[in-house]
Amino acid sequence: MKIAVIGAGVMGLVTAHHCALRGGTVTVYERRAEAGRGCSWYAGGMLAAWCEMESAEPLIGELGFESLAYWKTHFSHVVEKGTLVIAPPRDLPDLKRFAARTTAHQWIKRDEIAALEPDLADRFETALFFDREAHLDPRETLAALKTKLIDEFGVSFVMDHAVTAEDCDADYVFDCRGFEARDALHDLRGVKGEMLILRTKEVSLSRPVRLLHPRIPVYIVPRADHHFMVGATMIESGDRTRFSARSMVELLNAAYAVHPAFGEAEIIEMGTDVRPAFADNLPRIRRDGKILRLNGLYRHGYLGAPALARRAAEIVFEQKSFPEVER
Ligand SMILES: Cc1cc2nc3c(=O)[nH]c(=O)nc-3n(C[C@H](O)[C@H](O)[C@H](O)COP(=O)(O)OP(=O)(O)OC[C@H]3O[C@@H](n4cnc5c(N)ncnc54)[C@H](O)[C@@H]3O)c2cc1C
Repeated sequence: MKIAVIGAGVMGLVTAHHCALRGGTVTVYERRAEAGRGCSWYAGGMLAAWCEMESAEPLIGELGFESLAYWKTHFSHVVEKGTLVIAPPRDLPDLKRFAARTTAHQWIKRDEIAALEPDLADRFETALFFDREAHLDPRETLAALKTKLIDEFGVSFVMDHAVTAEDCDADYVFDCRGFEARDALHDLRGVKGEMLILRTKEVSLSRPVRLLHPRIPVYIVPRADHHFMVGATMIESGDRTRFSARSMVELLNAAYAVHPAFGEAEIIEMGTDVRPAFADNLPRIRRDGKILRLNGLYRHGYLGAPALARRAAEIVFEQKSFPEVER
């Protein structure tokens, strides 16, 4: 079966993979010169299926558990060290509320925090530890996925080439254009996210740390070579061009609250992009003849895309249906 995938973000690449696994002859079209440079570039890469249940619908948990297994099966560099959720002592009620809305965590005290993250030991008395969660480096992972698709499955990539579904010569077209697909998905909205990459040798973390914060849910994800991704704002806006001073202040304040040594860190990158989302923040597969539009990943791109892609591939290759996402 001849398959065209439009867009080489996380949604497009995992869709190409699921179609190739089922024997499809796949071509991926990407308007940029490199894969994964859209919204997927800016993600934290947290595979936080349990923490996200604090505010997300149960479907996100279901997709998230499946996607976590996908990443662990196909990529060796998934880091399985869990997530730590912290709050300053005055915000203990927020931590209790977070615990009440989630499962699969344990309360830990200062000495256990010290064993997990020695640099946080003197700063936080209580934390929640979600030991089944994991994280990955989105940029490294998408580059590895593209290489895998070419080397192991003979997938073709046409880069630097913006196409429409009608341009594609294929039995089925998977439209994975993210926020650019508004021309076909009129109820898609943008939720802007700003993030920073900091570098410091003064702090060591082994796992994502979430700081409960009155205005924005802030997290710090460790990356290689003393880099840390600090994210992320959540602003109802389709404008991906502007990083505001207020956002910078809030993200840096939060990083400083986690560890004052972040105050001396070097700012390596300021990034901003727009998460594609529907009104209920749940992803969808919309079918229009031979075109399937996979979109609305919101803040659950890495957490949701593999499970959504598997369903989309089975709709085409096995004539299955999935009412929970075909809406
Ligand atoms: C700051 C921030 C932090 C985040 N953190 C996390 C996280 O920790 N965990 C998580 O799971 N999710 C996270 N997300 C969400 C995640 O990044 C998104 O849900 C996901 O990237 C959306 O992927 P996508 O493939 O649909 O879109 P995109 O990554 O935008 O990909 C769409 C691709 O289509 C291409 N394209 C568009 N039009 C055309 C065309 N006509 N022809 C060819 N190509 C085209 C674009 O160039 C782009 O490469 C975060 C998002 C942000 C902004």
